[in-house]
Amino acid sequence: MLSKASTAQYSFSRIGRRVVLPLLLLSGSPRPSFSTFIPPTGPCQLSETWTELPLINTEKLTKQTSSFTYQLPNSSTPLNLSPCSCLLVRNKDGVVRPYTPTSNNEQKGSLTLTVKHYPNGILSSSIFSESPLEFSHIPANVKLQYPLPPSISRVLLIAGGTGITPISQLLECLNDEKDIVKEVVILIGDNSSSDVIELDVLNKLPSKKFKVVRVFSAAICGPPGMMKSICGVREEKNVTGILEELGWKDDEVYKF
Ligand SMILES: Cc1cc2nc3c(=O)[nH]c(=O)nc-3n(C[C@H](O)[C@H](O)[C@H](O)COP(=O)(O)OP(=O)(O)OC[C@H]3O[C@@H](n4cnc5c(N)ncnc54)[C@H](O)[C@@H]3O)c2cc1C
Repeated sequence: MLSKASTAQYSFSRIGRRVVLPLLLLSGSPRPSFSTFIPPTGPCQLSETWTELPLINTEKLTKQTSSFTYQLPNSSTPLNLSPCSCLLVRNKDGVVRPYTPTSNNEQKGSLTLTVKHYPNGILSSSIFSESPLEFSHIPANVKLQYPLPPSISRVLLIAGGTGITPISQLLECLNDEKDIVKEVVILIGDNSSSDVIELDVLNKLPSKKFKVVRVFSAAICGPPGMMKSICGVREEKNVTGILEELGWKDDEVYKF
């Protein structure tokens, strides 16, 4: 996730048959409004102590991504998670990974995770095989906390695949009319259109302040240092750097 006082210039061009972008989801017709982040009304239902939560619902979202809803100990109150927080999830072998709920404090008695299945991934496989799982929460466990520093008025958020989950919480906060950020661009990279995760929050953001740009392949041009860190040096076909980490393949990236 990147934030800058001044939003970076971004532009994409059509190259050959492959490019597929950008899809500006939010320009044009007005969108229905949606509630902004609901602050916790009490302590988080989960603490640093591991708590097993029963799985009560699953929903397939894309071929590799599903949502999983778990029952909370207290059925009449929400999870009460503070903004920009994540939970820790542990399987029966003691493997721990962080996940960010895509449910908010409107949802009482349960929490929902949106998870991508990595075929060889340990914890995501435990989640998809519906094995028993334990959850815990360490307050303020993510580097970026809300509200953002007052000097920031324009924000660029970059997400790859399920990287959109932590950003969804932040978007609800930034949509608060009292928030001082004036402009938010959300750049989301997915392997293909069938991998797009349709989070409700994304479809309801007001277009005056938020722009969602979806990319399925990328054309990149810039000085050598930037090329190296984003996609690898221009002379080499293979993709390295940030785009490789985000899962981009050699035939999806064009180095000018
Ligand atoms: C703050 C935060 C919030 C997150 N929220 C979410 C969320 O809401 N939803 C979500 O889906 N994810 C989220 N993640 C990512 C999540 O924590 C896990 O990293 C992810 O689910 C993969 O874990 P895993 O145990 O299944 O895979 P791992 O076992 O860690 O493996 C991941 C992938 O790397 C490959 N791999 C593993 N080891 C190697 C190796 N040595 N060499 C090459 N390849 C290897 C595996 O085959 C697999 O494809 C979040 C991460 C962070 C940091």
